[in-house]
Amino acid sequence: METKLFDQDHIAEAAAVLAKGGLVAFPTETVYGLGASALLPDAVAQVYQVKGRPSDNPLIVHVAAAEQVAAFVDNLSPMAKQLMDTFWPGPLTLIFKIKPDSLPSIVTGGLTTAAFRMPDHPQTLALISQAQQPLVGPSANTSGKPSPTSAAHVWHDLHGKIAGILDGGATRIGVESTVLDLSDPSGTPIILRPGAIAKEQLETVLETEVLLDKHLVSAGEVPKAPGMKYKHYAPNTKVMMVHDTDWPAAINWAQANHFKVGVLAGPTIAEAVRKETAAIYQYFDDSPEAAARGLFAGLRALDESTAALDLLLAATFTEAGIGAAYMNRLKKAANHEYFQENK
Ligand code: AMP
Ligand code: MG
Repeated sequence: METKLFDQDHIAEAAAVLAKGGLVAFPTETVYGLGASALLPDAVAQVYQVKGRPSDNPLIVHVAAAEQVAAFVDNLSPMAKQLMDTFWPGPLTLIFKIKPDSLPSIVTGGLTTAAFRMPDHPQTLALISQAQQPLVGPSANTSGKPSPTSAAHVWHDLHGKIAGILDGGATRIGVESTVLDLSDPSGTPIILRPGAIAKEQLETVLETEVLLDKHLVSAGEVPKAPGMKYKHYAPNTKVMMVHDTDWPAAINWAQANHFKVGVLAGPTIAEAVRKETAAIYQYFDDSPEAAARGLFAGLRALDESTAALDLLLAATFTEAGIGAAYMNRLKKAANHEYFQENK
């Protein structure tokens, strides 16, 4: 199959492909999504197939307006309405109990709940509107690899396997949406996946406590979001996390072992280690926002570096705000491994 690149002047064409059951990747403010009509089970089956995604990992339904959710959910709670008013369009996915059989079971993984999001990207909102149906949109990468933050990343993983890619440039946030479960019988909202909308922001708006899913708090717990149990975000090259104060020791250790090392870090750390490393992917500045924006692109770039690296060392951030989302993805990429002196 030839994969077409659509620009913003060809959204109607891309929408027509989707309406007929084709797959078109689209930009969002978080990462690129692999779009297919959420109402066409055969199209959704293709999404799982081309990504190599486990079939028990349900998909997020992307809408162009909050009102579109009413077709699938009875009686949105005041809390849900407040969150949609405040954060949509934006990087917040909400999980609701749905009307029986209102969505194909391949979308929900057979659950009685489903995930919804309105992405904050004008081209993609136009695409969903013009397709005249909600779209599933898991990250448009091969399952298990770093998520795509540019059309080139999508092309790398999926060209020849999907009908098209809508190119909206590099994504602004760089890590996937916060997933918030509003279906718990206790009535308490629970974060299943950290993203750019932080727990504290949700609590301020709702004026109530928001919990973190048990697996985000203690190791060994089974995550409630089926997708969070899978290996994720991993390049082929081994990744290790390095605490701020451990950089000199980490570089010494790598040199003593003759490892060719790639580094992902902000300018301050990057400058300090530049002479001793084979390749660097430097985040735009030293903020956790810049790190989140650059993480997946950096993992991909260093993984494919012509320097043929043995090891990637990545900077850590405090787990607050978007730093929590960055660390959640990085820990998975690094298989939870930190550099430790004397090991
Ligand atoms: P992705 O599409 O890869 O960004 O992942 C979407 C995330 O939302 C995955 O971790 C899914 O397991 C999770 N998810 C989707 N639908 C549900 C649901 N009904 N209940 C719990 N988690 C869900
Ligand atoms: Mg994904």
